Amino acid sequence: MKRGSLVIGNWKMNGSASEVDHFAAALKGAEQLPCEVGVCVPFVYIERMARAVAGSQVVVGGQDVADRVDPGALTGAVNARMLGDVGAGDVIVGHSERRSEYGETDQNIVAKVGAALEAGVRPIVCVGETKQQRDAGHFQQVVDAQLDAVLSSFESRELASLVVAYEPVWAIGTGDTATPEEAEEAHSHIRGRVAAYNSELADGCRIIYGGSVKPDNAADIFRQDNVDGALVGGASLNYDSFAAIAAASVEAEQQNKTG
Ligand code: PEP
Repeated sequence: MKRGSLVIGNWKMNGSASEVDHFAAALKGAEQLPCEVGVCVPFVYIERMARAVAGSQVVVGGQDVADRVDPGALTGAVNARMLGDVGAGDVIVGHSERRSEYGETDQNIVAKVGAALEAGVRPIVCVGETKQQRDAGHFQQVVDAQLDAVLSSFESRELASLVVAYEPVWAIGTGDTATPEEAEEAHSHIRGRVAAYNSELADGCRIIYGGSVKPDNAADIFRQDNVDGALVGGASLNYDSFAAIAAASVEAEQQNKTG
């Protein structure tokens, strides 16, 4: 991995105040974090987590954001400036659960990315195909359409902080993770697609893998050239497994450098 590993936890709708406190204490207690680490928690816990890890290099993030930054009559919405206000540096945009459960479209996702960028919050944009789409041989078209929506909507320089998370829908929360070869094929395809817009952006862009990453499968996935880290759901709820995944990413990075 040439770009430096990035391992981000996605707690989804899980956790409690005391779990935030335990996790944060463990993160802060770690002598040195092995790589760039972030954790995206439910909105209501962002500030608590951010205060608890203040002074460390851990980035706290949200899991969704409003599609505009200006305040207004949008009951239930949270905008990117508010996220920044309470200490979030990252936000997940376009997670497959938002696409499938809340009907988010590529258009919504583009607006959310724009809002995050405007507020200086780093967008982690999720792309990935369903099992049906993969079986029909359409994974590249699906991922291309999701990526193109974002890449064609902004100047490349505006996207300098963009992180892409390749998350095959069939691998999320199923235990059925992509093989390292499948992950590399998808990541290298994604990097090529980004390069078609701007090669510098493609070289620097972190493309992280998500979908049932666990301590025992992480190292093999991380060893792939175009895998720059992971977006970790279930395994990020437990500090020890999350830390083991972060450690695996650094081992793989070192092996790649020496090997
Ligand atoms: C996710 O929610 O982004 C995810 C990858 O979940 P899991 O690791 O549980 O498959």
